Amino acid sequence: MNVLDPALLNRCIHCGICLATCPTYDLTQHERHSPRGRLNLMKSVLHGEIKPTRAFAEEMYDCLGCLACETSCPAGIEYGQLLETSRSLSEEHGSLDSPLRCLLRRIFLREVFTRPRLLRFLGRLVRVAQLLRLSDLLTASGIPLLLPASFRAALQLSPPISPLFSDRLIRPLEKPARTTRRVALLTGCVQDLIYAEINRDTADLLLAAGCEVVTPPVQPCCGSLHAHQGDLTTSRELARRLIRLFPPADFDAIISNAGGCGSHLRQFSHLLALDPEFSDSAILWDSKIRDIHEFLFEISWSPPSSLTSMKKIRGTIHESCHLYHGQKIRTAPQELLRQLPDYEWSVLPESTWCCGSAGIYNLTHPATAEALLRRKINHLRTSGASIVATANPGCLLQLQTGARKQGLQVECVHPVTLLARACRSASSSSFSAHETIAS
Ligand code: SF4
Ligand code: SF4
Repeated sequence: MNVLDPALLNRCIHCGICLATCPTYDLTQHERHSPRGRLNLMKSVLHGEIKPTRAFAEEMYDCLGCLACETSCPAGIEYGQLLETSRSLSEEHGSLDSPLRCLLRRIFLREVFTRPRLLRFLGRLVRVAQLLRLSDLLTASGIPLLLPASFRAALQLSPPISPLFSDRLIRPLEKPARTTRRVALLTGCVQDLIYAEINRDTADLLLAAGCEVVTPPVQPCCGSLHAHQGDLTTSRELARRLIRLFPPADFDAIISNAGGCGSHLRQFSHLLALDPEFSDSAILWDSKIRDIHEFLFEISWSPPSSLTSMKKIRGTIHESCHLYHGQKIRTAPQELLRQLPDYEWSVLPESTWCCGSAGIYNLTHPATAEALLRRKINHLRTSGASIVATANPGCLLQLQTGARKQGLQVECVHPVTLLARACRSASSSSFSAHETIAS
């Protein structure tokens, strides 16, 4: 049973400062679509004035979970925790239940995203379908027009699946010439399927920084998807599995390169606070979790400073909500990127405003997500940049989709890819290009 924490809720002093930073309030100007409005609804549920009805649940899922309200709140509201509890209360009450929704939740949350081998198997099937261009045939048939908007949004997003996943690109243990630290690398689930090369880039940077890198070939999902969808039971189970796989005492740091996952991975001590077996190791786990940029910055690692091109490339930075608002990591990615001599960086106007990806929000609320994406792509267009860097797979995918749909020529990359490219170009002695692992 999940219960809203009155101490957290009572921190809200109703000042309304957060309203100006809330994308859903900005779109509708309705108080109930604002952080303050949603917190008032939560209070009403806590005090038994209303039940977690369908209307309550819809409001909780209408929120992007972008956490911009946490950044702007002078009272230090921990909105993310309250939102997850509210969604899980809604699920406990079956407020949004329908046979199709229950089936989809069971298949994806309980079966697919708890079994990494099954997820990879499905990923391979999708890749075969993509190579055969089956989605073009489906679109030409007109069938998608008969499907709900969420399915059409999923078809449009459908990213190219990586030809090789992380287990074929990264060995379970890789060592630099001289080891100074031992770290674990989390490869993620969506990241592993569509951006496995980013994981390879991350491993290369860690090696260049003198770290021994431990990357188990099969890793469970971190459970952030489950927590955001109100399934805290499965999320807790996945947290336990990760702690068993990566005993935190064995590592100097546990590295994540996905803003959304990292934000959740730092919450295990809260998630497992009442678990007598895991609560202590969850506290240690939280102390060892590092975002890759944060880690490289902390150990004062720098990319090579040699110029490789005569003309500087104009780049811009979009902040991932869960890196910026969730993990409070603001300067490290920018500082690292600014050390690359081939680029001239600006920060995108409204860089901390959600792009509409927000986990699976672009599938569940395609119209709102599309409005936010248009706003983001307009800023990208006027920035004049030819490259945009962002540190979250969901944002990357959303920006790539938006740029493609709006005919904008811009390369969307993860910062670690640019840092790894610079290392490869410089061919420094501490850095060697990887070879694909033979099967
Ligand atoms: S800024 Fe914080 S205290 Fe003020 S209304 Fe928003 S959540 Fe409440
Ligand atoms: S998480 Fe984002 S969308 Fe939700 S209330 Fe806060 S600012 Fe608004």
